[in-house]
Amino acid sequence: MSTFKAPKGTYDLLPPDSAKFLAVREAIAAPLRNSGYGYIETPGFENVELFSRGVGESTDIVTKEMYVFETKGGDRLALRPETTAPVLRAVLEANLHKAGNLPVKVWYSGSQYRYERPQKGRYRHFSQVGAEAIGAEDPALDAELIILADQSYRALGLRNFRILLNSLGDQECRPVYRTALQDFLRGLDLDEETLRRAEINPLRVLDDKRPEVQKQLTGAPLLRDYLCDACKAYHEEVRDLITAAGVVFEDDAKLVRGLDYYTRTTFEFVHDGLGSQSAVGGGGRYDGLSEMIGGPSLPSVGWALGVDRTVLALEAEGIELDIPSATSVFAVPLGEEARRILFAKVTELRKNGVAADFSYGGKGLKAAMKAANRSGARYALVLGERDLADGVVQLKDMESGEQTAIGVNEIVAELESRLG
Ligand code: AMP
Repeated sequence: MSTFKAPKGTYDLLPPDSAKFLAVREAIAAPLRNSGYGYIETPGFENVELFSRGVGESTDIVTKEMYVFETKGGDRLALRPETTAPVLRAVLEANLHKAGNLPVKVWYSGSQYRYERPQKGRYRHFSQVGAEAIGAEDPALDAELIILADQSYRALGLRNFRILLNSLGDQECRPVYRTALQDFLRGLDLDEETLRRAEINPLRVLDDKRPEVQKQLTGAPLLRDYLCDACKAYHEEVRDLITAAGVVFEDDAKLVRGLDYYTRTTFEFVHDGLGSQSAVGGGGRYDGLSEMIGGPSLPSVGWALGVDRTVLALEAEGIELDIPSATSVFAVPLGEEARRILFAKVTELRKNGVAADFSYGGKGLKAAMKAANRSGARYALVLGERDLADGVVQLKDMESGEQTAIGVNEIVAELESRLG
């Protein structure tokens, strides 16, 4: 062990488990790639204002959880706590929304940073795969995103997750509801901070996880009863489309989510095997965000799925992903000359697309075969003194244990044909 440890609230992804993370990212990305979403990558940090304006001054993310720093040049930056605002910033900056092809559909994959109180499933550095569809108001787009997230979770084999769905209304109806909710909250027995929150962002109080607060919230006015006709019709259409796609969801009239920018459709994917950190992903429509960060009106919708928690969900369901072994062939040279010959063969195999590895460090046969075993390779190539004299190499099928001598010059062709 060195003097240093991973910072609090972080952990390292190490082989072989890291392969699971890559597989989860890939499983989430695959349906997006297949549905017209292009890959986007933005910096790990942004101007702090992008988040305070975009995510919202009253959110926990902005008030408590951002890693803010000043550069030597005097810029105030923040490590990104989420990637929707950065993606929209990038799309606006590149004028992708003016290319006459709306919606702009993009997906991303990357690290997020939040200074949270660490616990299982809640980290200060975590990973999300996200999708954003920018510049179109169409219930089919909201439905598409929900269907695709469902599809990726099902492809991973997950079953014990639920989709919670709600509508947060729009500029028309939300203010009316906001006032009604505020009136209700003012009459409750709440601590000072919560009362303050009720003034700045009353909807967030609905999200309070404390039982003593939740108990008082029974009977709170629900946005559902305040939706304007346009929002109601929009929401009905989203529900119809995902129902028609066979995606099961639950209406959750109290679902508000932690970011300020959501309008209309909001949803969360929760997994029942994760304890208190049960949200594995979430998203919704954010029609006002573009204007909040100085752009034109660009109604948009998106989601982010947490990779870390999705991996935990797989573990909770006891799902072993079928991850093919990284190495197909493992070469074991015994002696100097064998080493040169086999190293050249391994290089050639790799050039031909065969995943091959090599026993390094002059190991003896026993230790080298152990390494071959551990690599998960289907075949081992063993080249000893006597084989050298005969111009052959021993090809061992690690599954059946069967061993055959083949000519050194046949190695590549033989393995290519055996591995198909
Ligand atoms: P949010 O951006 O807060 O809507 O979160 C979207 C998803 O990211 C959540 O459902 C989680 O899966 C994941 N996530 C958010 N915060 C954390 C965290 N601190 N640690 C691990 N995963 C997180």
